Amino acid sequence: MKLIDGKALAADLRRQIAEEVATLKRKPGLAVILVGENPASVSYVTAKEKACAEAGMVSKEIRLPESTSEAELLAKIAELNEDKEIDGILVQLPLPKHISEKAVIDAISPKKDVDGFTPVNVGRMMIGEKCFLPCTPHGIIKLIEFSGMEIKGKHAVVIGRSNIVGKPVAMLLARKECNATVTMCHTGTPDIAKFTKEADIVVVATGRPHTLTGEMLKPGAVVIDVGVNRIPDATKPKGFRLVGDADFESCALVASAITPVPGGVGPMTITMLLWNTLESAKWNG
Ligand code: NAP
Repeated sequence: MKLIDGKALAADLRRQIAEEVATLKRKPGLAVILVGENPASVSYVTAKEKACAEAGMVSKEIRLPESTSEAELLAKIAELNEDKEIDGILVQLPLPKHISEKAVIDAISPKKDVDGFTPVNVGRMMIGEKCFLPCTPHGIIKLIEFSGMEIKGKHAVVIGRSNIVGKPVAMLLARKECNATVTMCHTGTPDIAKFTKEADIVVVATGRPHTLTGEMLKPGAVVIDVGVNRIPDATKPKGFRLVGDADFESCALVASAITPVPGGVGPMTITMLLWNTLESAKWNG
């Protein structure tokens, strides 16, 4: 069984991105907006800003209080849409309940939507036009390729159908560039194991530990575990440990390759954000 080392792949890609950034006349700029102080969001935003700086990009940190109104946030985004030094705008989700995520995402210029969340970019991905691919799904494709498995002609099962992971990853796998046959499973699928037992590739993104177990897998399958779940653990300094949506121990006995949690999909998500910011800077000139 091979461990698909997302950290190593991410480090390699980040090196390549940094080399290309160094050749540009103007440093790519990423604006990272955080509203409130949700601890998980603070740590994601800090990691993104650090990665940005390490790649030689400029990160503009915009930390707003929980009480920020939707109108104030929309005004900030409008300002950044016009800022020539900014190539990418990222609004860390989730937002406080009084702000509409849809209104905020819709306000980001598709030309600076480096998360690939705006309807324009989602639509372009769907019809195969040039666009920003969403970071986690794009990173997942890179990880499957890195596992050594050729995607073309394979049967891929995606468990989960969220707009940010399940649906776009299924779409990318089914596009001609990947050419997999794709089955999407979710809470409405009565017998998920029936499909995963036939799958060469399983991507699990449910936010539920143990969604996928070894007995549900075909021997030799490649497993990409997207889940990040905090399990209380008094032996850890932070009082919790992270587990994925796959039961790692049992899946590792049957799979040919599997991503660890942490250290699999997570580092690739940030890397593909840098990738998109670089692409944006090149497109924007
Ligand atoms: P989400 O929006 O909650 O969507 C979960 C999806 O899984 C839904 O479509 C849901 O079905 C389905 N589902 C839930 N329980 C299921 C079950 N027992 N069997 C089958 N399907 C089930 O979550 P998400 O945003 O896609 O994220 C999924 C996980 O990935 C989370 O743990 C999240 O933290 C993690 N994540 C990690 C990264 C990273 O960079 N590492 C990035 C994004 C997300 P319904 O549609 O029927 O409700």
